[in-house]
Amino acid sequence: MARPLTEKSLVVASHNPGKVREISALLAPFGLKVIPAAELSLAEPVEDGATFAENAKIKALAAARASGLPALSDDSGLVVPALDGAPGIYSARWAGPSKDFTIAMRKVIDDVADCDRSAHFICALALAWPDGTIEHFEGRVDGALVWPMRGQGGFGYDPIFVADGHDITFGEMDPDDKHAISHRAEAFKKFTAACLK
Ligand code: IMP
Repeated sequence: MARPLTEKSLVVASHNPGKVREISALLAPFGLKVIPAAELSLAEPVEDGATFAENAKIKALAAARASGLPALSDDSGLVVPALDGAPGIYSARWAGPSKDFTIAMRKVIDDVADCDRSAHFICALALAWPDGTIEHFEGRVDGALVWPMRGQGGFGYDPIFVADGHDITFGEMDPDDKHAISHRAEAFKKFTAACLK
């Protein structure tokens, strides 16, 4: 059985403003005080795991130990089977030092060319406590890549991703509609059911 989160404050171990915004919205109904890692000037640890789950655990544990508070991290990314799973755990790095996702999205589309455009997002959440306990949850949403980019909402690869059963991109979707079906929402459902009774 997962360890319940009984503390009233939670550090969000991410320096990505798009993720912090979505995580804060998803946690809003639970009355927790959400503290972004940047507010505590926490250093970003080296993400040298081989999987989303390993990287999520590295980030959550580093933030929990540095802050003395429970910390929640999200490691996520876009997986394109036709590209052998790329960009995968390197999704953020494909945008380069300028974090320009137009470059990353164009590279994905150029690389996939005429191959199968199926893709999915994965979200691994890790909740760590300063004593080293870690809980882990994962979510996934399947869909397909489109070009050109569509929509100004969301973040990262949202403007080129259409979830199965939909005809607008995540970038065009109302945030509440994305939160209802996304990889992050699925991982959050598992996390809240297990730890936020
Ligand atoms: P990291 O988990 O901080 O290493 O970075 C994950 C990267 O995956 C983000 O910077 C985005 O580019 C991408 N990503 C993760 N979740 C989403 C999403 O919901 N929409 C679009 N892109 C995402």
